[in-house]
Amino acid sequence: MSLIKSISGIRGTIGGKTGENLTPLDAVKFAAAYGTWLKKSLGKENLKVVVGRDARISGKMIQELTMNTLTGLGIDVIDLGLSTTPTVEIAVPLEKADGGIILTASHNPKEWNALKLLNSKGEFLDGEEGAKILSIAEDEDFNFTEVDDLGEISLRENYMDIHINEVLKLKLVEADKIKNAGFKVVVDGVNSTGGIVIPALLRKLGVEVVELYCEPNGHFPHNPEPLKEHLQDISDLVVKEKADMGFVVDPDVDRLAIIDENGQMFGEEYTLVACADYVLSKTSGDTVSNLSSSRALSDVTEKHNGKYRASAVGEVNVVKLMKDSNAVIGGEGNGGIIYPESHYGRDSLVGVALFLSLLAERKQKVSELRNEYPAYFMSKNKIQLTPDLDVDGILKAVEQRHRDEQVSTVDGVKIDFPENWVHLRKSNTEPIIRIYTEAKSQQEADDLAQKMIAEIKTIIA
Ligand code: MG
Repeated sequence: MSLIKSISGIRGTIGGKTGENLTPLDAVKFAAAYGTWLKKSLGKENLKVVVGRDARISGKMIQELTMNTLTGLGIDVIDLGLSTTPTVEIAVPLEKADGGIILTASHNPKEWNALKLLNSKGEFLDGEEGAKILSIAEDEDFNFTEVDDLGEISLRENYMDIHINEVLKLKLVEADKIKNAGFKVVVDGVNSTGGIVIPALLRKLGVEVVELYCEPNGHFPHNPEPLKEHLQDISDLVVKEKADMGFVVDPDVDRLAIIDENGQMFGEEYTLVACADYVLSKTSGDTVSNLSSSRALSDVTEKHNGKYRASAVGEVNVVKLMKDSNAVIGGEGNGGIIYPESHYGRDSLVGVALFLSLLAERKQKVSELRNEYPAYFMSKNKIQLTPDLDVDGILKAVEQRHRDEQVSTVDGVKIDFPENWVHLRKSNTEPIIRIYTEAKSQQEADDLAQKMIAEIKTIIA
């Protein structure tokens, strides 16, 4: 059981002792801290906040506690009910609201939930803002409103349809070409809200949909992180149904994984690569992903004469660098597509629409498209340390040893070798260093990781 307070919100397990889990008292405390911070930072009364949730079992309970706490501070609430992270993100500016909260623990199993906090643009708070909210919660520095000024809750249950329409309005989304292509697609919505919104989007695009786990009851039929080892059922069904592809999203619909017509993974890293290939073929410009994402994005960007930049890990860091460099598309290698033409947040609806537009235009099978991209393989490892070791010192030593290579210290240590790369990051919660490598074969990626582990061991010894 645990409760993790971080700058992007508060995440924890349901049940158990207050302060050690996401209990009702903890949810109320953090909702109150967010509302208090919003009132202080905006310096005005009569605020409005959009609140939505994914379909997890605890969602309704946590959402009602959150909304009623905000009304207790005199804040009006727009209740989107069952929703997705990107839906709440687009609703905040469309409703001219002052902030937003999404109740979701993203790809984490069903016992988890979280409050994810947005600013008045519908974007994640930055580190400084998050730290202020944590300190307000710590001090319980709340001042609830008097009876005549309580906020009101208004229900808006059609926002996923509005979101779909916003996606269809995007210039690069070729609805007619997609309709003419006659696609058949299997969707795995892990029994969360992706099971509502992805089939609805596809049907609007004239796609024949086969639904797998699209009942939004919060009983996740498999580990909800869209990784190969959890996706056997959709792989089998794509083949059985003779479908053109499969789409899988995580419970709050900001990560998209694709299965090809043979039931093989397109590769989570390649969702962004393909969407970027399409966008860059229409709009020249630059791209951004985080330091742990595949080099394939950099290759595809250069092919289109753009410049690729890498940010620290974390959506808020990707978005900041995208804004600073005016990138036309970006995201994360875990299937997170950020397309500023729509909004600055990872959005699987946008990913689905761009990917289908690309396929419809190129008239290719998914496996054929995949074969056109450079093949890279990743290896994700970690090295266990003892708590007394100076992790920063170890990373510094690795940096020194490789100072003649191309090294970035924006987030841990990333070394870009000509043929492969390694990214070392320390964990903030346990004494480990995560070691991610990428190379042109799985063997080479695994070997590079083992070489780095051996190197770190000699530094420690
Ligand atoms: Mg997510």
